[in-house]
Amino acid sequence: MRTLTMKFGGTSVGDAQALSQAAEIVLNCAKEWERLVVVVSAASGVTDSLMRGALTAASGDGQTYLSIESELRERHREVVRGLLPSSGESASLLAMVDEQLAEFTAFCGSIHVLGEVTPRAMDTIVSAGERINAGLMAALLRQRGAFSVAVDATELIVTDATFQKAVPLMDPTRARIAERLVPLLADGVIPVVTGFIGATLNGEITTLGRGGSDFSAAILGDCLDSDEVWIWTDVDGVMTADPRLVPQARLIPVLSYAEVAELAYFGARVLHPRTIRPVVERGIPLWVKNTFNPDCPGTRIIQEAENACGAVKAVTAIKDLSMVAVEGRGMMGVPGIAARTFAAVASEGASVLMISQASSEQSICFVIPTDTVPSVVRAIEEEMAAELRRRDIDRVWSMDEMVIVTAVGAGLRRTPGVAARTFGALALGDINVVAVAQGSSECSISLVVSAEDAADAVRQIHNEVILNG
Ligand code: ASP
Ligand code: MG
Repeated sequence: MRTLTMKFGGTSVGDAQALSQAAEIVLNCAKEWERLVVVVSAASGVTDSLMRGALTAASGDGQTYLSIESELRERHREVVRGLLPSSGESASLLAMVDEQLAEFTAFCGSIHVLGEVTPRAMDTIVSAGERINAGLMAALLRQRGAFSVAVDATELIVTDATFQKAVPLMDPTRARIAERLVPLLADGVIPVVTGFIGATLNGEITTLGRGGSDFSAAILGDCLDSDEVWIWTDVDGVMTADPRLVPQARLIPVLSYAEVAELAYFGARVLHPRTIRPVVERGIPLWVKNTFNPDCPGTRIIQEAENACGAVKAVTAIKDLSMVAVEGRGMMGVPGIAARTFAAVASEGASVLMISQASSEQSICFVIPTDTVPSVVRAIEEEMAAELRRRDIDRVWSMDEMVIVTAVGAGLRRTPGVAARTFGALALGDINVVAVAQGSSECSISLVVSAEDAADAVRQIHNEVILNG
């Protein structure tokens, strides 16, 4: 029994035209796959708006959530009017939209009174976006002749109670899916499941973290023993670089899980690696495809890197970073300085993106988001107060407006000379490299450059190392 699980992201179901296109894709696939499950996100921007409504209400603003309500009502009504005018269902769909948004408003009203929004309340509030879209998509499929029903993932995906970033409990989830989803599939129904949301065993609504619909699709794909999982988005797949920065950027046909993880960590807009793990670990082929260009095959994500591909596959940049240096001649040979430095960094909750220590041991440098610099520097100065007084450490300082440029590819491990070519490319572009690190995964090389050089650095590495690689 061939099973396909597919997920449509926010822009793929963002307005009437996109939903219509997505429905066409579903209907075409239904001809070729015996069992087909569809997962939908909220329309693009809706989750953000719902959150903003709750947050502004909590901070005493009694107006914003009301205007968000009417904006979202109008937006979804337009979809109903545009796509389902004659379906005989439009009245009940409009009522469904109204009911979901009325609930949102009621919640925001209470939050406004309480002056506080808990993570648990937030999860309930944002669930409206996915719920509305699942209802709309299922109705659209019915109108076009398919058997389809909307299914609320709170009935399928059982999670722990970590609101806003819940972890699925796979055994009960598997059981629920076998009980509720499999019979529908056996009857030839196309279930349209809400992405992003789940519920605890007690039935409290949870969410799987921002962008969590991919995770929903992976969980369903795993539990249904899907033959494939397809993630529909608004770009052709994963690209060799951000096309806004590098016009020559190309589609990457195949990527390994480790490469995806590295790319996501270093700022590329791809799947969150945690979310796709269930399918990749089971060896279920996963594809990223473009709703607006469905004939393009997209990017295939596989478990292990294949040999045939080039050494470097993609180059990314992360902005708004600073480099912090702890410097002093008295640091040499003194154990524990690094450990204490990073304990101080961690105590401020800052995440370190890159570290390098000169072998002379006279400085430790690391890169952190710029907005965390003041508190991190203060924490290190407090921790090292004695060393600073004795002048074993001369200073703790930071350089702002830094960017990490990362070249990613599993082939880096096996191909000598890639680092040299990467630096050569930068030298050709007359770009100064402030610091360097190679990840222990050996799947990436990262360079720190100043913000003004970042775009050039990305282009140089892309065109010299990837295209000519
Ligand atoms: N709608 C949710 C979000 O914006 C989930 C998703 O889009 O995957 O985070
Ligand atoms: Mg989204």
